Amino acid sequence: MKAVAVSPKSRSVGIIRVERPRLARPTDVLVRVLDVGVCGTDREICAFEYGTPPAGSDSLVIGHEALGRVEEVGAEVTRVRPGDLVVPTVRRPCGRPECRACREDRQDFCYTGLFSERGIKERSGFMTELVADDEKYLNVVPPALRDIGVLCEPLTIAEKALRQIDEVQARLPWACKHELGKPAAYCHRAVVLGAGPVGLLGAMALFATGYAVTVYSRELAPNPKAELLAGMGIDYLSSVEVTPDELAEKLGNIDVVYEASGASQASFELMRVLGTNGVFVFTGVPGRKAPIALDADGLMKRMVLHNQVLFGTVNADRGAFESAIRHLAEFESRWPKQVRGLITGRFGPDEHAQLLTGKQGGIKNVIEFSGR
Ligand code: BGC
Repeated sequence: MKAVAVSPKSRSVGIIRVERPRLARPTDVLVRVLDVGVCGTDREICAFEYGTPPAGSDSLVIGHEALGRVEEVGAEVTRVRPGDLVVPTVRRPCGRPECRACREDRQDFCYTGLFSERGIKERSGFMTELVADDEKYLNVVPPALRDIGVLCEPLTIAEKALRQIDEVQARLPWACKHELGKPAAYCHRAVVLGAGPVGLLGAMALFATGYAVTVYSRELAPNPKAELLAGMGIDYLSSVEVTPDELAEKLGNIDVVYEASGASQASFELMRVLGTNGVFVFTGVPGRKAPIALDADGLMKRMVLHNQVLFGTVNADRGAFESAIRHLAEFESRWPKQVRGLITGRFGPDEHAQLLTGKQGGIKNVIEFSGR
């Protein structure tokens, strides 16, 4: 079978041949890969900055944002059936008895750091024709989401964040007051920093959950992303035109900042204007750059005097995949043009080089492994 793999040792990225996977356990499922999304993590792996091949191998099959179709199931499989569309989770548990998170199927919170991740860390990914996995790592997607199901994994980042925001804000009187018979009031204000796929999907999830949302990013408006957002009622402001202070003045209390830029300077500048009782969520992984100057006293003082919470979040559990699937179905019915517009290119496996190591273009690019 064809697979797209990276070899950190020989510093190469290319198509390799791999063996067809077998069902090793009765709970295993064989999945034909349909679509695999390309993300910043894949590009970092292909720049040899991140990523680890499985033990004993020189190459890592990449790809962790997948949509596939179940081809064959083991004798004890109950959750999926042949023909089902499925999206796999990414992280697998560390298996250490002392890791309570992994023991309780929350390897997204693994304590030991010895977890593995398909296509990223010590486990083959999904940029190939067929993959096998235990059914517990597969999430069934309705057939109507065939075209956009590949967006599920990047959306899970926001889903996990949203749940944590709710849990954190249970510390105060936070819930919106809804008046009977009136549409849900947008009583909380969120700013999304960055307009890549994680930012745009995060904005849609926050908006669908009832936040008033402003996406704040570098690129000047008008631009295609600002237009796509406007079509749903989500505002876009460029940080080139509007300073963080002006942003806060315009918006009022900023309840949530959802950072999806990986840019530390822009993040900490925005943190200065996070509102009272606000939550700042980091999802971006910055590349190594020169240290930045920071008004640490000012930030610390604000955090204390305004009851603020700052947290980082990575990866996602099955619950987050389930809410992502529900949200994708909602996006498809409310904003079909916009959600489909996030996928800006579909390519064959042989066109991987430009997507993984060339200049980045579009929003979400997808590699197709099986005909449509
Ligand atoms: C993936 C996560 C993963 C993280 C760190 C992200 O691109 O979406 O599942 O945990 O990279 O490896």
